[in-house]
Amino acid sequence: MTDTENGAALKKLYARVIIDIDHEKVDRMFSYRVPAELRDEIGIGCSVTVPFGRGDTPRQAYVTELADSTDFDESRLKEILGINYGEVPALARNIELAWWMKKRYGSTMITALKTVLPIKKQVRAAVSRQISLLVSDEEASLLARECFLKNKRAQARLLEALVGAQSVEQTMLTGRLGISPQTIKSLEKQGIIRVETTESYRNPIRFRERETGKKALTDAQQAIVNDYLEKYDAGIRKPALLFGITGSGKTEVYMELIEGMLARGKDVIVLIPEIALTYQTVRRFYRRFADIIAVMNSRLSAGEKYDQLRRVEEGKVHIMIGPRSALFTPFLNLGLVIIDEEHETSYKSETMPRYHARETAEHLCAMTGAGLFLGSATPSVESYMHARDGDYSYYELTERINGAMLPRVMIADLRKELANGNFSMFSETLQRAMADRLAKGQQIMLFLNRRGIAGFVSCRSCGTVIKCPHCDVSLSEHPDRLICHYCGYETAKVSKCPTCGSGYIYGFRAGTQQIEEKLKKMYPSARVLRMDADTTRKKDDYDRILAAFSAGEADILIGTQMIVKGHDFPGVTLVGVLAADLSLFASDFNASERTFQLLTQAVGRAGRADLAGEAVIQTYQPEHVAVQMAAAQDYKGFYEEEIRDREMLQLPPIWHMLAILILGDDEGKTGRYAAWLTDTILDRADPAGQIRKLGPAPATIGRLRDRFRWVVYFKSRQTEDLVRLKDALESKMQKAGEAAEDISVYFDFDPMSGY
Ligand code: ADP
Ligand code: ZN
Ligand code: ZN
Repeated sequence: MTDTENGAALKKLYARVIIDIDHEKVDRMFSYRVPAELRDEIGIGCSVTVPFGRGDTPRQAYVTELADSTDFDESRLKEILGINYGEVPALARNIELAWWMKKRYGSTMITALKTVLPIKKQVRAAVSRQISLLVSDEEASLLARECFLKNKRAQARLLEALVGAQSVEQTMLTGRLGISPQTIKSLEKQGIIRVETTESYRNPIRFRERETGKKALTDAQQAIVNDYLEKYDAGIRKPALLFGITGSGKTEVYMELIEGMLARGKDVIVLIPEIALTYQTVRRFYRRFADIIAVMNSRLSAGEKYDQLRRVEEGKVHIMIGPRSALFTPFLNLGLVIIDEEHETSYKSETMPRYHARETAEHLCAMTGAGLFLGSATPSVESYMHARDGDYSYYELTERINGAMLPRVMIADLRKELANGNFSMFSETLQRAMADRLAKGQQIMLFLNRRGIAGFVSCRSCGTVIKCPHCDVSLSEHPDRLICHYCGYETAKVSKCPTCGSGYIYGFRAGTQQIEEKLKKMYPSARVLRMDADTTRKKDDYDRILAAFSAGEADILIGTQMIVKGHDFPGVTLVGVLAADLSLFASDFNASERTFQLLTQAVGRAGRADLAGEAVIQTYQPEHVAVQMAAAQDYKGFYEEEIRDREMLQLPPIWHMLAILILGDDEGKTGRYAAWLTDTILDRADPAGQIRKLGPAPATIGRLRDRFRWVVYFKSRQTEDLVRLKDALESKMQKAGEAAEDISVYFDFDPMSGY
């Protein structure tokens, strides 16, 4: 890293560092002298070893500031021992971002720093096996079709993957596409492909040439690209939101914007939810932009990640695609951040600091002068509100490409099914539709919301859900009580529905496995694939199941939300949502929004190609707004209802929340600490009376891995009020002394769901 990049050509006599220990007591900068021989090489973001504490134990630390003078007594400062060269230094910008994240979301600096640091260790270059075609693309395509007809599906997949590619890394094929080494050997023996062993960058795919004859944008697509780039060139950097229904050509718009950025000498970060980062998606970008792309995902090895970042540093890569952590890619000329599926909850980190990638991207873009472009078929209520208020630019794509139709949606009322004596998980409507598709050899996707296992209690006769009288969330079923996880309200279990008196009232428990067994009994000749946490334990199971279904190796795919995200299965003409209500009343603050998004996306999976699609939504609550609006594919109608509710219930994005999770070894002590910490805090931190407090109460999972969990919520219209409150809590925590010995405190702003 050069001096100019870090601001100034200073003499670098002193360094301030953050010690690599995650504890509040050392959560500050420590000053050291820089020995003469390190002065040329040391830079902000360097990993160094320093003597620390009693006995001067050597500790790892990160340089966050360099200066040519110090306020400390020179003679009392210790000297840095050395630089740890194996590590990629962080950009000064990322350190600044880490300070912001620490302040905004609450965490120690070292934890924030580690979040933005690119990669831990340098790894020796690995040997890679690159597979390429020895025959022409046309021949390979023909051979692929032949193999497919002869039921040599794996060979067919292998050939298809190689068409247009210069070479593909063997692990990409064996892993993602479920192709065995024997299949590769067999084609190698036949002289159709070549296997080359090289020691090189671990770049998983290489394309021979950029895609020729790229698609001409539709007028609607082109107008968006033109408008955005015009504003960009005029120096306007308002974030933009693109609301485009599924299959309306958003990805094509992103790619054109990327092209525009490259033409301006700029780099681009594209965030895609981890779950949608499949071979299919990535390949589309590779075909257009070839080798200037790098891809990050959690399945890459440390070595692969290191190599990708090295290519960024060497200026060989100008586009980074990845999940939220890709935001910290150390590009020097960042021009644009694109966030696809911006509503996805996975953009919020589940570990400290609990940052939201959208907010953090907004801050990063403000720091660097880059643009921010968001896209979704079901925008988050928050982003849509910003667009409505004029804080974001707003674009729409309202039609599917090729005039493909959105599927016809039917709602099956499960209460009526029960009244008619149907106790199975499949309504008459769904059964009829399934039998029809199986007879026609078309594919079916069945979707079950995993969140249902959380066990809200509902009446199977009338749909009544047992709710907390104080909170408007469902009560959760515990062994002998029903408990509100927000305010702590408790009541006895019910055996009769309070509305209709029916005895069919209990927590919902049906898993994908039961559904699979049932289907096999109902349709013995149907080939069924299941995708859930059980069947996707191994690194590449996910891609393999999708590839198999995509290749027509099964008639029915059952799955949790994993299967509804951004996959294109042209053969699917029926989507069944087995129980829409399961997510509606899971104790989430934004349960309705998430249900609407899931239903809309699930429904959008049907009939993307030339075959018309149908969707059946099974529900105990056919009149619920989220169900109705998703069936009508009416985002705006949903938004209007939802934003009104949010105002009324004092929820984000109109109000903001700070959840404080307090963990300890002893139940009583943890609760007392929670009370002590938050008791009179508002008197001091909120003299104007803007903040409301809920709790403390035991968390949903009151004990986890032998730790007791308490939670307190604070609400205010202004995020800044809550950040100030967090600061006050942090300083109070430092005074806790022994009372806090085994206690940990976590902050979560605008939590996605309750604790
Ligand atoms: P989205 O990202 O909104 O779901 P995509 O960009 O994936 O939509 O587009 C849906 C399909 O339409 C893709 O198969 C894509 O290749 C195709 N497509 C998109 N834009 C065009 C265009 N301008 N001309 C022809 N086909 C297009
Ligand atoms: Zn009832
Ligand atoms: Zn309650």
